[in-house]
Amino acid sequence: MSATVLDGKSLAQEIRAEIADQVAEFTRKGGAVPCLAAVLVGEDPGSQVYVRNKEKACKKAGMRSLLHLLPTETTTGELLDLVARLNADRSVHGILVQLPLPRQIDETRVLDAVDPLKDVDAFHPENVGRIVQGRPRYLPCTPHGIRELLLRNRIPVAGQNVTVIGRSDIVGKPMAIMLMQRSEGANATVTVCHSRTKDLPAVTRQADILVVAIGKPKFVTAGMVKPGAVVIDVGINRTNQGLVGDVDFESVKEVAGQITPVPGGVGPLTIAMLLHNTLAAARLQAGGA
Ligand code: NDP
Repeated sequence: MSATVLDGKSLAQEIRAEIADQVAEFTRKGGAVPCLAAVLVGEDPGSQVYVRNKEKACKKAGMRSLLHLLPTETTTGELLDLVARLNADRSVHGILVQLPLPRQIDETRVLDAVDPLKDVDAFHPENVGRIVQGRPRYLPCTPHGIRELLLRNRIPVAGQNVTVIGRSDIVGKPMAIMLMQRSEGANATVTVCHSRTKDLPAVTRQADILVVAIGKPKFVTAGMVKPGAVVIDVGINRTNQGLVGDVDFESVKEVAGQITPVPGGVGPLTIAMLLHNTLAAARLQAGGA
């Protein structure tokens, strides 16, 4: 039997509409219009598309959006100067530095320089530490989107075996930490796999929920999936066949119980949660909770 497809695109629209209503209410009550400043260094075509989509989404939700485009040869010092100006600008509530940065830039120094209150990507060590301790300020957008997808589709997580393939700071690691917390939509038994994992299929076949974030087109095949499992595909790979995920959708959908498509799965939710965090940042900087 074929898996149910988890429609991230329509869920993201629903969440964005909710956020637009909340923004309208916040500003009606005297709150400042939430403002996201995006910083893009260089001319990576993928990054340009992402940043433009984020800008459009902000505007549609009634938020302000500023785009700072810097040349490829920008230095760490120049980028740090811009971040300092955005940190000091009281009309800016969220700062997003689009990754990857050109090689000459010290990415860690730049991300560490973002004011933790404006760190809507939740990459700053203070925010990461808070997530680990189970008292998050912001949740990173992609794992947060996956959490909403699981919650709003009423997919049980507590007590389930969840396997995350990938341990990046952006997706795999925070996802695993969030799902093991003692909190709503969590309490899972989490396994994290990576390129050194022995007999990966034997591990992934134990998973009731399999989250895949490795950046390898169609890597996860039917034989790696437990029948009836929920499969969440984070991958975005540009190939000759267009955009494909890290999961071989056609074969895996015959084994899985539920599966996210690419495109139209996790990607749109990531943007929706960025808007969520930008509104949360505006509230926090207005002195609210
Ligand atoms: P990274 O390249 O930072 O991390 C990849 C991870 O996968 C690493 O931990 C690596 O292991 C692991 N890995 C690589 N090959 C294998 C393998 N053969 N077996 C097991 N593990 C392996 O990627 P990201 O987390 O940043 O991104 C992953 C994918 O998700 C990409 O396609 C990216 O485009 C996409 N993405 C999508 C987003 C969205 O909004 N939908 C947002 C962010 C990313 P090791 O640590 O040992 O090297």
